[in-house]
Amino acid sequence: MSPREKADLPTSGSSTSHLSTAECPSHSGSVPECDDKKRVSEEDDRGRKEEETEEEEEDERNGDEGFMGMTPLLQAHHAMERMEEFVHKMWEGRWRVIPHDVLPDWLKDNDFLLHGHRPPMPSFRACFKSIFRIHTETGNIWTHLLGCLFFLCLGLMYMFRPNMSFVAPVQEKVVIGMFFLGAILCLSFSWLFHTVYCHSEGVSRVFSKLDYSGIAFLIMGSFVPWLYYSFYCSPQPCFIYLIVVCVLGLAAITVSQCDFFATPQYRGVRAGVFVGLGLSGVVPTLHFVISEGLIKATTIGQMGWLFLMATLYITGACLYAARIPERFFPGKCDIWFHSHQLFHILVVAGAFVHFHGVSNLQEFRFTAGGGCTEDGNL
Ligand SMILES: [Zn+2]
Repeated sequence: MSPREKADLPTSGSSTSHLSTAECPSHSGSVPECDDKKRVSEEDDRGRKEEETEEEEEDERNGDEGFMGMTPLLQAHHAMERMEEFVHKMWEGRWRVIPHDVLPDWLKDNDFLLHGHRPPMPSFRACFKSIFRIHTETGNIWTHLLGCLFFLCLGLMYMFRPNMSFVAPVQEKVVIGMFFLGAILCLSFSWLFHTVYCHSEGVSRVFSKLDYSGIAFLIMGSFVPWLYYSFYCSPQPCFIYLIVVCVLGLAAITVSQCDFFATPQYRGVRAGVFVGLGLSGVVPTLHFVISEGLIKATTIGQMGWLFLMATLYITGACLYAARIPERFFPGKCDIWFHSHQLFHILVVAGAFVHFHGVSNLQEFRFTAGGGCTEDGNL
C-alpha cells in the first residue's frame, strides 16, 4: 500500500468511526463494526510499516544523492560557483595592491617596482574598474587611453577637413588615415593590454601580442604618409620603401606572436626589434637627403621633425629596455614616472611630432600644387 492510499484510509482515532479499537472487546468476532475496525487498524499498521520502510529506503537513497537530491559532485560544483561569485565580488571592490614578491610568475615583469601591483583578478569587470584605482598600471593605462582619444579626435577632424585644402583629397586622406589607424590601433591595444594584464596568464599573453603588434602598426602607418609626400614625384622608390617596411612590419608582428617574446628576459630584444623597424627609415631618409640636398631636406622635407620624432621614440625604447629611472630608485617609482610610463608618454609625443611633420609636408604639397619638376624631385 502506498502512503497515499494509506492516507485515504480512516485512522484509528478518526471521527468517521463510531468505535475505537480500544472499545472493541478482545474477541469481538460477533461485532461487525469491531471486525471492520480491527481490519482497518491492521491495514493501518501494515501501511505505516510499509511507509516507514519506504522512508528508510528514501533516506538511504538521499544518503547517496546528498542534500536536495544532488550528488556530492553537484554540491561541490554549486559550492564552487558560490565561492567564485563571492571572490568576484571581492575582486571588484575590495582588492588591495600587493608587493612584487608575492605576484605569480606570469605577473612578474619589473622587479624594480616593489609595491603597488594589482593581484591576479580573473574578472574583466574588475580589471576595467581598476582603471580608476591607483596601482603600477594606472599611468600606463591612462597615458595611452587619453592618447588614443586624442588621436581619434584629431583623425576625425582631419578626415572632415574641406577637400579644397588637398591636391588629391581622397588619396591624401587615405594615406594620412593610415597613420591615424596605426596610432589608434597601437594606443588602444596598449591601454587594453595594461587594463586586462592581471586577468589571467592566457589573457595577458593574448593581449601582450596585440600590444606588440600595435607598435608595428604605428611604425608602418607612420611610414605611409611620410614616404608618400617625401617621394611624391618619385613613385617607384616610394613604392619599394613601402613594400619593404610592410614586410619588416609583418616580420615584427610574426615574431611578437612567439610566447618567449613577451618574457622579461627578452625586454632588450623587444626594444631592439621595434627600434630596428623604425630605423629602417634611415635608408629612405638618406635617399631623400642625397637627392634633395640637406637644406631642402631640413626645410621642405621636415627632417627636423622627423629627427625629433626618432629621438623621442628611441629615448623611450632605451628607458624601457634599461628600466630607468626605477633601476636607480627601486620602490620609489612604483606608481608614477617609472620607465614604462615615460616610454608611453614619449610614444604619444613622438606620434604627435610625426603628425605635425606630415601635416607640414601636406601643406607644402598643397601650396606647391600637384606638379613635379622634370628631375623628379620635390
Ligand atoms: Zn605599454
